[in-house]
Amino acid sequence: MRNKIPCSAERLSLLDPPMIQGVVDRNAFHLGSQYLSENRVRIVEANEAQISSAVIGNSGLYEQTIRLKDGHLVSRCSCSLPEEPMCRHCIAVLLEYHRWVQPRTKKARQNPVPMSSEASNGNTVPPSNFTADLKLSEVMAFIEWLNPVMKALEKGERLPEQSHLSGDLAAWVQTIRTLDERRRESEEIQLTLESEQREREAYVERMTQQLQASMAEVKAAQSQLQHLQQEVAAYQDMFVKVAEIASEVGGYDSQMKTIAGELISKGTQLDKLANSFREVAVALKTIAKPGSTP
Ligand SMILES: [Zn+2]
Repeated sequence: MRNKIPCSAERLSLLDPPMIQGVVDRNAFHLGSQYLSENRVRIVEANEAQISSAVIGNSGLYEQTIRLKDGHLVSRCSCSLPEEPMCRHCIAVLLEYHRWVQPRTKKARQNPVPMSSEASNGNTVPPSNFTADLKLSEVMAFIEWLNPVMKALEKGERLPEQSHLSGDLAAWVQTIRTLDERRRESEEIQLTLESEQREREAYVERMTQQLQASMAEVKAAQSQLQHLQQEVAAYQDMFVKVAEIASEVGGYDSQMKTIAGELISKGTQLDKLANSFREVAVALKTIAKPGSTP
């Protein structure tokens, strides 16, 4: 899907969740937020003008390119969802990007800068209190805080709180904490990915076994088929022989009929001959009688 929305923001980080929500479809926004919370978004490459990313959707991995160009937000996703003006994947990516840049823009936000899309008139140059004097006591507190932080980092534990600092030092503390959270999230993602990979490997193994079993079945079926073919060939031979015998029997039958016909005609002739003999005998008797009586 490719979409183009007019957008006056000059940087992608200016697109905050409420602003995105105000523009996109309600249901798509809900699903995009859900994808974000389920860690399904991977930002491959990003800057303030363009994001390349991938999102694990419900039926596969989709790739997105989102960029700001000539007063428009142009989004492209490899999915085919009809969601307008932007699919849930692109929404999830924009939300993830916003979350991703938060630690960097935090400082800017502490000094209120209008975040509406209309307000981006030039880069947000940090106001004057950015260079406010650092109090020595706060610097010492910060350094003191760093000690347990190093230990916690070594042990992989959560970083200790530090709420007594202000200004830049507080921002630094927040940045360190955010980076640590990111690291934890990455580790969690890595663990999830590893377990997913193990599951996939097990699945592939199962499939391979099934495939092997199926191939063995196919082989068995093929050899059965060969047997059947041989039997069919043997039956065909037998059938040819039976047909030959049947035709021979037919020949004999017609010969028998001919012979029987001949016998019948001979019988008739013999009957006629016998009658002739009888007539001759009667005639002879008639002739002999007058001769003997005189
Ligand atoms: Zn999509």
